[in-house]
Amino acid sequence: MSNKKNIAILGSTGSIGTQALDVIRANEDKFTVEVLTANGNADLLIKQALEFNPNVVVIADENKYQFVKDALNPHDIKVYSSNKAIADVVQMNTVDLVLTAIVGYAGLESTLSAIKAGKQIALANKETLVVAGDIVTQLAKEKGVNLYPVDSEHSAIFQCLAGEFHNPIEKIYLTASGGPFRGKDISYLSTVTKEQALKHPNWEMGAKITIDSASLMNKGLEVIEAKWLFGLRPEQIDVIVHPQSIVHSIVQFTDGSMKAQMGLPDMKLPIQYAMAYPDRIKSNFTRFNFLDYPQLTFEPVDTKTFRNLVFAFDAMKKGGNAACILNAANEIAVAAFLKDKIGFLQMSDIVEQCLQTIDFIVKPTYEDYVETDKKTRIKALEMIKSPSRPSQRGGAVANKKNN
Ligand code: NDP
Repeated sequence: MSNKKNIAILGSTGSIGTQALDVIRANEDKFTVEVLTANGNADLLIKQALEFNPNVVVIADENKYQFVKDALNPHDIKVYSSNKAIADVVQMNTVDLVLTAIVGYAGLESTLSAIKAGKQIALANKETLVVAGDIVTQLAKEKGVNLYPVDSEHSAIFQCLAGEFHNPIEKIYLTASGGPFRGKDISYLSTVTKEQALKHPNWEMGAKITIDSASLMNKGLEVIEAKWLFGLRPEQIDVIVHPQSIVHSIVQFTDGSMKAQMGLPDMKLPIQYAMAYPDRIKSNFTRFNFLDYPQLTFEPVDTKTFRNLVFAFDAMKKGGNAACILNAANEIAVAAFLKDKIGFLQMSDIVEQCLQTIDFIVKPTYEDYVETDKKTRIKALEMIKSPSRPSQRGGAVANKKNN
């Protein structure tokens, strides 16, 4: 019998997905690719399938199905289409671990489906926990499923907790690079373009998370993700700006001792750690040199300018469907910003107004989350289509810019 782990990579054509395949390529004795999925990038999905020879590929966009099917026809690879198919194939007996690297709310259904089938999860799709963290973590508990964090900050916390799981956490510090607009003020942010926002100083990532990093929404989502992953109270989570992105996060224990995990910013490390847990695999990733970084610095977050982090903390404290509203509004706002339909600051305005106007539900069911997501998207889209309604901070400027 093989000791290899059979991996399903959901979102294999994205930034996390392709780096996961790099890890697998370097460790073919430890992992095999069982499932690959993409949304619409058929060419890359086919290329990956031809190299890794998975049992199954799924292309969510049904218009691309025939193209992928024809390309893989001569090979012994099953091809399916639709998001429902992604949720189905993760339950196959042959899958040991599911890497959830679909971006956004779209990753929720397949993650829940994998947990229901008792599959171990390497979790990159943070939105899953932001939207429905209570349901996801409760189900994981019931099914005996571990959620291994892929996000570098949460991987850092997880690595610091090795051997400490019985010791209570006093507090965690999530580090934030501050993004490309660290130190900038509102008037500067009112004119920034998507090209500027897409230039992250330390990490190369997909477009949505790169914009989230620039607006600090990413850190907000991570705060909520941390609450669910590590069972923390809101007051146990703090954020500190660390522009070098070398200290990936810090745990403070009840005796005051702090543990940090460090390394060069390279997502392959946390991806590999999540896939190989509890083992560490020898790698040839570039090693950190202290003399290249004579100063590691830390500073407070400017929450007056980057309001998204405040919204996320508030949503976490409020509970219920608040974080689901936050996430849906943000997804619509980021997509609009990427299409030059709104300005940078207007993204926060949309999130804020959706949080103020969408019905709050104290104890949502799964169906309530689905409904909340839908309603919030409609509301956010209305706000984008009716720019005459002035938004509080960035709207007027943003509209001028787009006229
Ligand atoms: P990308 O945008 O690079 O990739 C997203 C992947 O999801 C692609 O394979 C895409 O397919 C697929 N996808 C998108 N929409 C759908 C959909 N509706 N149905 C099915 N599949 C879909 O994202 P990232 O890799 O950057 O991020 C993935 C997740 O990991 C996010 O939740 C992000 O927050 C998290 N994460 C990412 C990090 C990073 O360094 N990139 C770091 C930490 C966390 P296609 O290519 O065909 O469009």
